[in-house]
Amino acid sequence: MMSEQKPVRVRFAPSPTGHLHLGGARTALYDFLLARQTGGQFILRIEDTDRKRYVAGAEEEICAGLRWLGLEYDEGPDVGGPCGPYRQSERKEIHQEYAQRLVKEGHAYYCFCSPERLSKVREEQQRQKLNPRYDGTCRNLAPSEALRRVNEGEPYTVRFRTPKDGVTRTTDLLRGEIAVDNSSLDDIILVKSDGYAVYHLAATVDDHLMQITHVIRGSEWLSTLPVHALIHRAFGWDEPVWVHLSVFLKPSGKGKMSKREAADLAKDGYSIFIKDFEALGYLPEAVNNWIALMGWSYDDRTEFFSMYDLIEKFNLEKLTPSPAAINFTKLDHFNGLHIRALQPGDLARRIKPYYQREGYVTDDDTLLKIAPIVQEHIVTLDEVVEKAGFFFKDSVVPVAEDLVAKGLTARQSAEIARKAYHLLSQFSEMKADVIEPPMRKLVEELGLTAGQVFGILRVAVTGQKVSPPLFESMEIVGRERVLARIQRAINLLEAMG
Ligand code: GLU
Repeated sequence: MMSEQKPVRVRFAPSPTGHLHLGGARTALYDFLLARQTGGQFILRIEDTDRKRYVAGAEEEICAGLRWLGLEYDEGPDVGGPCGPYRQSERKEIHQEYAQRLVKEGHAYYCFCSPERLSKVREEQQRQKLNPRYDGTCRNLAPSEALRRVNEGEPYTVRFRTPKDGVTRTTDLLRGEIAVDNSSLDDIILVKSDGYAVYHLAATVDDHLMQITHVIRGSEWLSTLPVHALIHRAFGWDEPVWVHLSVFLKPSGKGKMSKREAADLAKDGYSIFIKDFEALGYLPEAVNNWIALMGWSYDDRTEFFSMYDLIEKFNLEKLTPSPAAINFTKLDHFNGLHIRALQPGDLARRIKPYYQREGYVTDDDTLLKIAPIVQEHIVTLDEVVEKAGFFFKDSVVPVAEDLVAKGLTARQSAEIARKAYHLLSQFSEMKADVIEPPMRKLVEELGLTAGQVFGILRVAVTGQKVSPPLFESMEIVGRERVLARIQRAINLLEAMG
């Protein structure tokens, strides 16, 4: 659905320094929604100019994570596009060219201070309880002198000539005007001595060259927003719309999640890393629905959103800057909702890998029959193995004590099982709607409760005290295996005395 809004160009610009996490995924989701809604483009740009923090494989994980979530990007390192390359390390010369332009126009300068000197300056400032910042030694070098030293091969960085006086004002869509005294800003490095641009320059230049209309990112970048605005202005470029999203807090709502806490989540079957969600049994639809509402709401009431709904309803106006606590109970809730919203055939296809990874040999017909009867009962897809693994087993091994019905002895329970066996064996097929009425009649004749009689059969046939609906389950397990399993239960009960 196309809105009235002009087509946007938005980018998700992760650094390949670790796993794609919920915060990044939410940014990418909002980018994607806005692009689809307005008929614009969603771009993936890999910000890998910090070569020391580069993690091999991280880029692939980001791409795979976005695809799993269904956030297909229109331009990116592995799909190309008109504004490439989309990996910043491959744009080194472009960034240098723009840095030269700033130097030429007096907005930046070469700095020859050694790291040793800089750290001495910093220590001294710390000793004096001053904010650490560059002391300006090279700021006023004559341009000809600086150029001579560059040409002689002296190592250098390029620094931004931040205005010393006045106030820089810019606007964040969620927070309104952001103003900062220029005197509090540092002459940040734009190009490092290894020739790579730092994030601030690379992102600004690339946002301009890629014609980005809205910069959506985490609020950790709010503090450097004035510097980004100044760099845009130094080039004479218009700024994009700035959107800094709310932060995610740990489930307790107290503070951000530490690396250790994030790793500990696995013990409870949770994670903040997108790569883990599939194995944990979550649907991408549910994850998208969940993170969409961590920082945005539609009408404070509606909670179920398909991707289609999100594309239609998402709007920047309803974003909130308030922090959101990561609530995994909510994720489970959404996962259940989205599982129930699937077509059974779709659910059958999605549960298959969970059986297979546990070594079960499945067949598609059976999966199709299982899907509708587990649909109401699972919260995560992996639960099918525990709750409905018995369908694919040759035999089950119940705990003998579990076969004894409430209020009855083992001997009495065996007698009931024998009667049920006798009744069921008269049918050539185990059709749920055919066998259920006579089985209920048997319960009545025995003067017992359905819970007592069917409880024995449930444990016998499924090996579990809790299972999907009994008669539907028996139909899927099939006559031969049902009878064999009840026979085994009779034997176990008889052996108990
Ligand atoms: N590379 C930055 C990050 O990973 C991107 C910030 C931005 O979107 O400008 O956080």
